Amino acid sequence: MQNCLFCKIIAGEIPSQVVYQDDRVFAFKDIAPVAPVHVLIIPKKHISTLEDLNPEDAEIMGHILVTASKLARELGLEKGYRVVSNCKEEGGQTVYHVHFHLIGGRKMQWPPG
Ligand code: AMP
Ligand code: ZN
Repeated sequence: MQNCLFCKIIAGEIPSQVVYQDDRVFAFKDIAPVAPVHVLIIPKKHISTLEDLNPEDAEIMGHILVTASKLARELGLEKGYRVVSNCKEEGGQTVYHVHFHLIGGRKMQWPPG
Protein backbone atom coordinates (compact mmCIF):
# COMPACT_ATOMS: atom_id res chain seq x y z
CA MET A 1 0.00 0.00 0.00
CA GLN A 2 1.29 3.47 -0.89
CA ASN A 3 2.49 5.59 2.00
CA CYS A 4 2.66 2.68 4.42
CA LEU A 5 6.03 2.64 6.19
CA PHE A 6 6.10 -1.13 6.63
CA CYS A 7 5.02 -1.82 3.02
CA LYS A 8 7.97 0.37 1.97
CA ILE A 9 10.29 -1.63 4.25
CA ILE A 10 9.01 -4.91 2.71
CA ALA A 11 9.61 -3.46 -0.77
CA GLY A 12 13.15 -2.43 0.20
CA GLU A 13 12.39 1.24 -0.43
CA ILE A 14 13.30 1.97 3.20
CA PRO A 15 16.25 0.05 4.65
CA SER A 16 15.81 -2.35 7.55
CA GLN A 17 17.79 -5.02 9.35
CA VAL A 18 16.05 -8.11 8.01
CA VAL A 19 15.91 -11.06 10.39
CA TYR A 20 13.75 -13.44 8.31
CA GLN A 21 11.38 -13.46 5.38
CA ASP A 22 9.42 -15.92 3.31
CA ASP A 23 6.56 -15.65 0.83
CA ARG A 24 4.09 -14.43 3.49
CA VAL A 25 5.96 -12.79 6.37
CA PHE A 26 8.77 -10.30 6.93
CA ALA A 27 10.72 -9.87 10.17
CA PHE A 28 13.15 -7.04 10.95
CA LYS A 29 14.79 -5.33 13.92
CA ASP A 30 12.81 -2.58 15.61
CA ILE A 31 14.53 0.79 15.12
CA ALA A 32 13.97 1.70 18.80
CA PRO A 33 14.46 -1.57 20.72
CA VAL A 34 12.96 -1.83 24.20
CA ALA A 35 14.94 -4.98 25.05
CA PRO A 36 18.11 -6.76 23.86
CA VAL A 37 15.97 -8.61 21.29
CA HIS A 38 13.18 -6.62 19.62
CA VAL A 39 11.99 -7.91 16.27
CA LEU A 40 8.87 -6.90 14.36
CA ILE A 41 7.05 -9.65 12.45
CA ILE A 42 4.59 -8.48 9.82
CA PRO A 43 2.45 -9.97 7.06
CA LYS A 44 3.66 -9.06 3.56
CA LYS A 45 0.00 -8.39 2.78
CA HIS A 46 -1.07 -4.94 3.98
CA ILE A 47 -3.58 -5.18 6.82
CA SER A 48 -3.96 -1.92 8.76
CA THR A 49 -5.03 -3.14 12.21
CA LEU A 50 -6.12 -6.29 14.04
CA GLU A 51 -9.63 -4.87 13.72
CA ASP A 52 -9.40 -5.33 9.94
CA LEU A 53 -8.71 -9.07 10.03
CA ASN A 54 -10.99 -11.31 7.99
CA PRO A 55 -11.50 -15.08 8.27
CA GLU A 56 -9.15 -15.60 5.29
CA ASP A 57 -6.34 -14.00 7.31
CA ALA A 58 -6.36 -16.81 9.90
CA GLU A 59 -3.61 -18.76 8.13
CA ILE A 60 -1.20 -15.83 7.84
CA MET A 61 -1.78 -14.77 11.44
CA GLY A 62 -1.09 -18.30 12.61
CA HIS A 63 2.03 -18.36 10.46
CA ILE A 64 3.25 -15.15 12.12
CA LEU A 65 3.01 -16.74 15.58
CA VAL A 66 4.75 -19.90 14.41
CA THR A 67 7.47 -17.65 12.94
CA ALA A 68 7.76 -15.78 16.27
CA SER A 69 8.28 -19.12 18.05
CA LYS A 70 10.92 -20.19 15.51
CA LEU A 71 12.79 -16.87 15.67
CA ALA A 72 12.70 -16.85 19.49
CA ARG A 73 14.37 -20.27 19.46
CA GLU A 74 16.97 -19.14 16.92
CA LEU A 75 17.67 -15.91 18.83
CA GLY A 76 18.36 -17.78 22.07
CA LEU A 77 15.29 -16.71 24.04
CA GLU A 78 14.97 -20.06 25.84
CA LYS A 79 14.26 -18.28 29.16
CA GLY A 80 11.12 -16.72 27.68
CA TYR A 81 9.92 -13.73 25.75
CA ARG A 82 6.88 -11.63 24.94
CA VAL A 83 4.85 -11.32 21.73
CA VAL A 84 2.70 -8.19 21.56
CA SER A 85 0.43 -6.60 18.97
CA ASN A 86 -0.95 -3.14 19.66
CA CYS A 87 -4.30 -2.23 18.11
CA LYS A 88 -5.28 1.37 17.33
CA GLU A 89 -4.97 4.42 19.52
CA GLU A 90 -5.70 3.04 22.99
CA GLY A 91 -3.66 -0.07 22.26
CA GLY A 92 -0.65 2.10 21.45
CA GLN A 93 -0.41 1.35 17.72
CA THR A 94 1.70 3.91 15.86
CA VAL A 95 2.28 2.16 12.51
CA TYR A 96 -0.93 1.09 10.79
CA HIS A 97 0.30 -2.17 9.23
CA VAL A 98 -0.39 -5.13 11.54
CA HIS A 99 2.77 -6.20 13.37
CA PHE A 100 3.81 -8.39 16.26
CA HIS A 101 6.66 -7.31 18.54
CA LEU A 102 8.93 -10.21 19.57
CA ILE A 103 10.67 -8.89 22.68
CA GLY A 104 13.15 -10.71 24.89
CA GLY A 105 16.51 -10.89 26.57
CA ARG A 106 15.40 -9.36 29.87
CA LYS A 107 12.71 -9.93 32.52
CA MET A 108 9.39 -8.39 31.47
CA GLN A 109 7.00 -6.47 33.70
CA TRP A 110 3.25 -7.12 33.98
CA PRO A 111 0.81 -5.42 33.66
CA PRO A 112 1.96 -3.16 30.80
CA GLY A 113 1.59 0.58 31.20
P1 AMP B 1 3.56 0.15 17.43
O1 AMP B 1 3.85 1.36 18.28
O2 AMP B 1 3.05 -1.04 18.17
O3 AMP B 1 2.71 0.53 16.24
O4 AMP B 1 4.98 -0.30 16.88
C1 AMP B 1 5.63 0.34 15.83
C2 AMP B 1 7.09 0.02 15.99
O5 AMP B 1 7.74 0.34 14.76
C3 AMP B 1 7.79 0.85 17.08
O6 AMP B 1 8.33 -0.03 18.07
C4 AMP B 1 8.88 1.61 16.31
O7 AMP B 1 10.08 1.72 17.02
C5 AMP B 1 9.04 0.76 15.06
N1 AMP B 1 9.54 1.45 13.89
C6 AMP B 1 9.14 2.65 13.40
N2 AMP B 1 9.82 2.97 12.28
C7 AMP B 1 10.68 1.93 12.05
C8 AMP B 1 11.65 1.65 11.05
N3 AMP B 1 11.89 2.50 10.04
N4 AMP B 1 12.35 0.49 11.14
C9 AMP B 1 12.13 -0.37 12.16
N5 AMP B 1 11.21 -0.16 13.12
C10 AMP B 1 10.50 0.96 13.08
ZN1 ZN C 1 1.46 -1.71 4.78
